[in-house]
Amino acid sequence: MPRLTHLECTRCGEHFPADRPQTVCPNDAGILYARYDLEAIKRTFSSARLAGRAPTMWRYDAVLPDADPVSLGEGFTPMLPSREYPNVFIKDEGLNPTGSFKARGLSAAVTMAKHFGLKKLAIPSAGNAAGALAAYAAAASVEAHIFMPRDVPIANRIECDYYGAQVTLVDGNISDCARKVAELKERDTWSTEGWLDVSTTKEPYRVEGKKTMGYEVAEQLGWKMPQGIIYPTGGGVGLLGMWKAFEEMEQLGWIGDQRPKMVCVQSSGCAPIVKAWDEGKSTSEMWPNAGRF
Ligand SMILES: [Zn+2]
Repeated sequence: MPRLTHLECTRCGEHFPADRPQTVCPNDAGILYARYDLEAIKRTFSSARLAGRAPTMWRYDAVLPDADPVSLGEGFTPMLPSREYPNVFIKDEGLNPTGSFKARGLSAAVTMAKHFGLKKLAIPSAGNAAGALAAYAAAASVEAHIFMPRDVPIANRIECDYYGAQVTLVDGNISDCARKVAELKERDTWSTEGWLDVSTTKEPYRVEGKKTMGYEVAEQLGWKMPQGIIYPTGGGVGLLGMWKAFEEMEQLGWIGDQRPKMVCVQSSGCAPIVKAWDEGKSTSEMWPNAGRF
């Protein structure tokens, strides 16, 4: 019996098979969450068995899809005590391969894309996700097709070139890049040539990689929850992932029902999650004309 049993739409709750590539819910474009047989995992695996495992996010493979990981050593980043504030820790995600937390989600997404035999992965990105996809696609021997704003920092662009990705520079911002990927998807060869859009929330597995941050915070604090997590937020997948991890860990009996206060921090030049929160909405909207401030 596989650990991963099915995918579940976070909007309408419909179940979908996890044994083939999936994108979003066909009914309502909701994000599909990977669901596991947590009762069976609880019977056969405990948090004590994590001790001595490799210091990567794949130490939590009991709660990740059953596939051969495409790994560059991502995750299990240190929690450094703040010199300025007692009882504050800084989780140094800059130590991940390619220098950002994007490595987690793309390690998981590329692992599953390879598992399903997909050949071409597309992403719109203004920087870090592009570098991460390029690196993991290279490690998996699949093609990375990256759509970047023309004014992206040169270092991000060079990184993608060096990893052998196909980079398309787009006049405009990240929203225009997303539109380019959407246009590509309308080509009739999209499905037959093994393409997958690995944009944020457009496939089920980036959130699975990001959720390992939640497992790590709990393990590194001795299975106690912090009072709060202050999280620099882009699309919000890290927040979703950590919250999913807390729910899974409670069902596994690794933590209780306490939850940290989640504090989302966004740049004023692109703050869709903050805007949705301030307006009391349950979903966020595309931020027009995202800029750097
Ligand atoms: Zn749905």
